[in-house]
Amino acid sequence: MLIDARDLTTGHVVEADICIIGAGAVGISMGLEMNRSDLKVAILESGGFEYEPRTQSLYKGDHVGRDTYPLERNRLRYFGGTTNHWAGHCRPFDEFDFSVREWIPHSGWPIKIEELEPYLERTQPVMGLGKYDYDSVEEYGRQLGLETLPLDSSRLINVMKHQSPPTRFGPAYREELTQSKNVSVYLYSNVLELLSNESASHVTNAEVACIDGPRYKIKAKNFVLAAGGLENPRIMLLSNKSAPNGLGNSHGLVGRFYTDHILIRPALDVSLSRTDLDFRLYTRPHRINGGLIFAIMTAPEDLTRREKLTRFRFHLYELGPRYESPIGGVFSELDGAPEVAPLVTKPDTHIQVHMAMEPIPNPDAFVRLSDKRDLFGQRRLEVKWQVTDAELANAHRAVELCALEFGRMGYGRAYAPILAKPDEWPATFTSGKHHCGTTRMSDSPQTGVVDRNCKVFDVDNLYVTGSSVFPNIGHTNPTLNLVALALRLADHLKEKST
Ligand SMILES: Cc1cc2nc3c(=O)[nH]c(=O)nc-3n(C[C@H](O)[C@H](O)[C@H](O)COP(=O)(O)OP(=O)(O)OC[C@H]3O[C@@H](n4cnc5c(N)ncnc54)[C@H](O)[C@@H]3O)c2cc1C
Repeated sequence: MLIDARDLTTGHVVEADICIIGAGAVGISMGLEMNRSDLKVAILESGGFEYEPRTQSLYKGDHVGRDTYPLERNRLRYFGGTTNHWAGHCRPFDEFDFSVREWIPHSGWPIKIEELEPYLERTQPVMGLGKYDYDSVEEYGRQLGLETLPLDSSRLINVMKHQSPPTRFGPAYREELTQSKNVSVYLYSNVLELLSNESASHVTNAEVACIDGPRYKIKAKNFVLAAGGLENPRIMLLSNKSAPNGLGNSHGLVGRFYTDHILIRPALDVSLSRTDLDFRLYTRPHRINGGLIFAIMTAPEDLTRREKLTRFRFHLYELGPRYESPIGGVFSELDGAPEVAPLVTKPDTHIQVHMAMEPIPNPDAFVRLSDKRDLFGQRRLEVKWQVTDAELANAHRAVELCALEFGRMGYGRAYAPILAKPDEWPATFTSGKHHCGTTRMSDSPQTGVVDRNCKVFDVDNLYVTGSSVFPNIGHTNPTLNLVALALRLADHLKEKST
């Protein structure tokens, strides 16, 4: 059921078994998973069905570290959340991403890939992806009549990504949730704070407000924060009536370890010395096994271990005629859906290589409350994104490996600003708009905010999910992984509630 909360009266109290805050990729996936269960579920969504400037303005905040995209531009605050403009690139984390890597401080998840794998497979159809197979890039290339690059696998390897159409979760699942008997979505409902008992160990209700409308409460047995990687910690920090530092923040970790992918786009420009090269497997999505796929390059585990590097990936983009329909809306401002372009046979003279790199978890990068206020009088966010010299050196080596490979294959000469000036981030360096790490998962409240079930330590009925719980982010895009975690949490809550 969909409910316009502006029609409620001030003081109204909604009661539910589970209250989910946010109807983006996470909130909607959890709602679908709980549809037709015995649970009464209320999803509270700040926006309506369309972009509205005043609602979007609630996302404003300041950068106090490295400047990057304005906070109200790199996420969207209405039904469907940021999937209303995401680019749809998908790949699961690798087993390696969950492990402790002794050369990377604060690395390692408390869970292993095996615990996520069944949910990753279930996530594929939710995101409009084909068969769950990320291992057969050579085989798929053969079936498509397209070759993978002859890489030296001790340096770089070919791997596969899936391309979502991209699924816009709002329009895609609006009807299913409208028809639901047990899941109600409350639109125009801004959660201002969570109220708890005196010891801040149990959430009693959420305070909700509509712009120019009523204020109401929701009481639930369990609460789930699904408001995105920046807003999840903000809501916890704003919930400070019983716990002055914010709910679940007795160790000061809520908002710490803010992290995002480091992008250099482009990182290299390769002037091709041959005209017979075909990069179409990399530069556009191809339909196979009920979905769309394309190839990227990354470093093998051994190399990152040997050279003590974080993970990174390279996407290829053609210049010239084929560049008209590139994959990679992820790198554009308002990502339109990439189309499968007709094949163009004209040879290219250049290709560009874009790099996305895993950052090193850093407790000095954070999000916190500022003294500025939004239109409800709530404190806005300050975000300190940091990049370090260690990451610059990591990026330099990654780009060098890629340039060396193009040279070794005899494909042409690579120009990369970071190789010319190793002490400077190139002008094309930016962040990935993947807000992660601010409520990290751990086995101990000394080192994390949520446990392996995404439950906030010390609060018995508050859960957080989304990329804010990722302690490490590998090189891959977050959404497939965070939706899988959301489905896992939905199962956990269903089990807890029986
Ligand atoms: C331009 C761009 C391109 C991207 N491309 C990719 C890609 O190719 N691949 C990939 O994996 N990821 C990509 N992403 C990231 C992807 O969009 C996010 O990972 C995903 O949307 C996160 O889902 P979420 O549900 O956690 O948050 P969101 O989708 O942001 O949803 C959060 C929801 O919570 C609501 N909300 C917030 N605060 C409150 C509140 N106080 N009360 C009530 N509701 C609230 C919001 O209105 C919103 O609907 C991209 C992001 C951007 C910006």
